[in-house]
Amino acid sequence: VAKGRGRGVFSHFEPGMDEAAAARRELEMDMRVGLSEGQFELHYQPLIDVPTRRTVAYEALVRWRHPTRGMVMPDLFIPLAEETGLVVPLGDWVIRRACEEMAQWPEYLRVAVNLSPAQLRSTGLISTVMQAIAENGVAPDRLELEITENVLLKDNAVHGALLHKLRGLGVRVALDDFGTGYSSLNYLRAFPFDKIKIDRCFLKGLGESDETLPIVRAVIALARAMGMTTTAEGVENEHQMRVLLAEGCDQAQGYLFSRARPAANFPELRRAGPQAAAH
Ligand code: C2E
Ligand code: MG
Ligand code: MG
Ligand code: MG
Repeated sequence: VAKGRGRGVFSHFEPGMDEAAAARRELEMDMRVGLSEGQFELHYQPLIDVPTRRTVAYEALVRWRHPTRGMVMPDLFIPLAEETGLVVPLGDWVIRRACEEMAQWPEYLRVAVNLSPAQLRSTGLISTVMQAIAENGVAPDRLELEITENVLLKDNAVHGALLHKLRGLGVRVALDDFGTGYSSLNYLRAFPFDKIKIDRCFLKGLGESDETLPIVRAVIALARAMGMTTTAEGVENEHQMRVLLAEGCDQAQGYLFSRARPAANFPELRRAGPQAAAH
């Protein structure tokens, strides 16, 4: 929270301020209120094992249930939260909440959580992750942290050490949206990822036109050769699934299987097991 104040909260608040700045300012104030009043919630999208079509994990995707604007999607507020530093308390909440919810799920299911650049720069990340795991009694390897490659551009040494530390806790680390940012194959050598998530732009047309097939094939082969698994994002039809199965992609995620929904919408997660009763 101290980080968020560092920028000078009222720095934009002056006569002649344009409408866009006013709207951003309002959104930022709203976000602070939303965080303290519990307006954020997690929706989950299943990750499917390609050969068996069983769900193996769920990705937590944050939503903001705004009192007047309705459900606000992350593309609208994550960038602003990143600029203001609010993404750190928000992201920490996401980690804790995801582990809390996962503690109620069958043990074969994992949860994937997105990390922002500011979170990776914050000093509290390791202890937040440790606490979330310990307090909820979940096995560390059930938590998967997703990082986009653009995060790796600056301060490579710091991030390398941090990723090693995270993996030292036993959590998994995935490279999200692979192929869309300033991709460098050097990252794959320097950073210890467990998984590559192939961005959905490479899934477009797959199985109908073969424009992106060589790229998808090469990424899967590269990941496998380096001991990493692959998840294809944005899978919307069976043509794509046919190719993914043939090419040996491990997991698929997309509207073909489900959009992101509250955990209560997935019957396999609504389990009143002994853990649930104990709370
Ligand atoms: P992402 O991590 O790459 O998440 C996948 C996004 O693609 C999600 O959008 C998901 O709903 C969407 N998607 C999934 N399947 C399909 C499909 O078949 N077709 C299409 N067209 N889209 C699909 P969403 O939920 O709006 O999230 C957008 C981005 O916001 C995420 O991209 C992630 O970068 C960010 N984000 C979400 N939650 C968090 C969070 O808790 N923390 C941080 N730092 N970022 C988050
Ligand atoms: Mg993601
Ligand atoms: Mg992604
Ligand atoms: Mg994305």
